[in-house]
Amino acid sequence: MNEQDYQPETLAVRAGTVRSQFGEHSEAMFLTSSFVFESAAQAAARFIGEQPGNIYSRFTNPSVTMFEERLAALEGAEQCIATASGMAAILACVMGVLKAGDHIVASVSLFGSTVNLFNNVIRKFGVETTYVSATDVAEWQAAVRPDTRLFFLETPSNPLTEISDIAAIAVVAKSCGALLAVDNCFCTPILQRPLDMGADIVIHSATKYIDGQGRVLGGAVLGNRKNLEGVYAFLRTTGPTMSAFNAWIFLKGLETLKLRMDAHSANALELATWLEAQPNVARVFYPGLPSHPQHELAMRQQKTGGGIVSFEVASSPGGGKEAAWRVIDATRMLSITANLGDTRTTICHSASTTHARISPEARAAAGITDGLIRIAVGLEAVVDIQNDLARGL
Ligand SMILES: *Cc1c(COP(=O)(O)O)cnc(C)c1O
Repeated sequence: MNEQDYQPETLAVRAGTVRSQFGEHSEAMFLTSSFVFESAAQAAARFIGEQPGNIYSRFTNPSVTMFEERLAALEGAEQCIATASGMAAILACVMGVLKAGDHIVASVSLFGSTVNLFNNVIRKFGVETTYVSATDVAEWQAAVRPDTRLFFLETPSNPLTEISDIAAIAVVAKSCGALLAVDNCFCTPILQRPLDMGADIVIHSATKYIDGQGRVLGGAVLGNRKNLEGVYAFLRTTGPTMSAFNAWIFLKGLETLKLRMDAHSANALELATWLEAQPNVARVFYPGLPSHPQHELAMRQQKTGGGIVSFEVASSPGGGKEAAWRVIDATRMLSITANLGDTRTTICHSASTTHARISPEARAAAGITDGLIRIAVGLEAVVDIQNDLARGL
């Protein structure tokens, strides 16, 4: 089939499927650590790369390969390399692309563990990071040094849903010879395809929307073969690769991704609109709302606003945190957890959970107030989510 001509919903259910000799309709789960050869000569040919084929599941596995090809088709990428988690994908990206003495320019609004990885792990190996505004392209340009090799961003950001202009930042990256990596976890290729806008590498935490049902951890790095050569070598040698079982779960997740992303987005827009009308809500952050400062950019760059909505509870005499905790603790249905991208709506207080380890000053600078609540809108009826929140509000 000529996959390039298929629509995303077709690719999501068809791309990458390879049948074994039994002709199974659903993809097989290849639970095998290694593969056997017909002869010593064939083993030798496989090991030196003269003949394509599987050797060992740390290198390649047929279930994992099917997942990689399906996600690559959806992102419009030449290659996809699956990993054990989203963090393994980010680690493999920086270890594969950078060397000691290289410099990263990164958005200040990154996932907490990514900041930890940049500040406390790869820094030990001589890679420095400068953080800049997610939204001010001039800051990216100003932070460039002669040794800058990688730009790294995440859009929309967590929890304030700030939008980075991928195309504009890609132009700056290109002009200084750096690669632009985009963590596309919040949008998935259904809502946003960063490679089409000039990004060089796309990162996923498949744990979130790609599974979408809260079962397993996984990740992926996507881009062209040349840029990913070092990434594959790092993973193959060090081992944080995806298991066949998890790949099979993610293959099934991809089949319903379009339906789920559309439903998450529709629910989120309805909930955000309702929240904006509540007297005890001071502010709502959702890219799909006309009140969002970058609504226009978001609607140009993404198909919809996505599933993440944050809001500030109007401050009560006890302060923002007390008011926010009261709303969270009054819920009976929503799941109090920092996870996101699930069929079940999740709710969390960013300042005391995902952003608890950064200083109060840094939190204030980032705009994460004590009254802020983040909701990852699930697939329940919106009226039930509203009723659950209305109790505390
Ligand atoms: C969760 C998350 C990650 C890390 O993914 P894991 O699968 O938990 O390792 C990276 N980036 C973003 C934006 C995330 O939400």
